[in-house]
Amino acid sequence: MKFLSDNHIEGMPSQEVVIDSITDPTKLPHHLLDNYGGRRQERRYQNLRLSEIDGACPREWVLGHLLNLSYWQSTPIANVWQMNMGSILHWYIQNDPAFFGDRLVGYWRCMACGHERRFGVRPKEPCEKCHAHPRVTEYKEYMFRLSSPYRVVGKIDLILRVAPRVYRYGEIKTCSRDVVNPDGSHVAQAASYNYFSRYDSSLPITIDRSSCYIFYFNKKFDFKGPTKVFTIKPTERLINPLKTKAGMITEGIRDRVLPNALTACINTNFSDKSGRAKSCGISKECKKQFDMGVSQLDGGP
Ligand code: SF4
Ligand SMILES: [Zn+2]
Repeated sequence: MKFLSDNHIEGMPSQEVVIDSITDPTKLPHHLLDNYGGRRQERRYQNLRLSEIDGACPREWVLGHLLNLSYWQSTPIANVWQMNMGSILHWYIQNDPAFFGDRLVGYWRCMACGHERRFGVRPKEPCEKCHAHPRVTEYKEYMFRLSSPYRVVGKIDLILRVAPRVYRYGEIKTCSRDVVNPDGSHVAQAASYNYFSRYDSSLPITIDRSSCYIFYFNKKFDFKGPTKVFTIKPTERLINPLKTKAGMITEGIRDRVLPNALTACINTNFSDKSGRAKSCGISKECKKQFDMGVSQLDGGP
């Protein structure tokens, strides 16, 4: 029988755990893996993350931004695992030429020296700066961060050349079963990237915004291949509510005006046990302002 403390390593906390007495394979990871409880991440309210626009509460963003609030988001290990698998696949889909080859355009980064390489198709030549092999060059997603006319931030998975001089955005999602229709929150995300990025001028090409794509890569084997693609058209019916929400947040922050609390939260008295307020990072502060009848915050420039 071996005690961990027998082999105590400098800097590591000593644990009086009889490790060999734990035989349950589902319990052993709790002792052998660090952070097996999950991950904690601090979240702030700087610019509305367009990947979250569908479920975003305008009041949460305005209040969080104006009072410079943050909260700790806990993600159980089961979800961290799923998210990490998605991220890994995501990376391969962008960086293995088997998928998009020279259809994928954008900025590229040399992982050996960190140099941001030219805009264009996948580099086949060594890094201009450190001469590292092109296989250590990775795709660098185009990111835009705006404060006006909308305070939003977004990161585009793919810029695809669909015809000579016609470039459209693509969004990558991974799944474990066949997808028949795209998820509404994914549609809102792709459509808002397509719409709001028009206010950023850092891309050296013009994006065709008449449509964009959501790719669902299925982890389950299928002879027909792993992906389904849905074309998203930016109709007014789709875009207008997204503009309204982003506008409400931007103007609320500018004028220090609090958007109304959600009915679902009022109805549950802002309980953090269930409903929408449960997933809100600042429900207590929201309730406090609501109970005091505040609709505009003091201060500002
Ligand atoms: S508690 Fe509800 S209404 Fe208040 S900020 Fe959070 S999500 Fe919005
Ligand atoms: Zn380099």
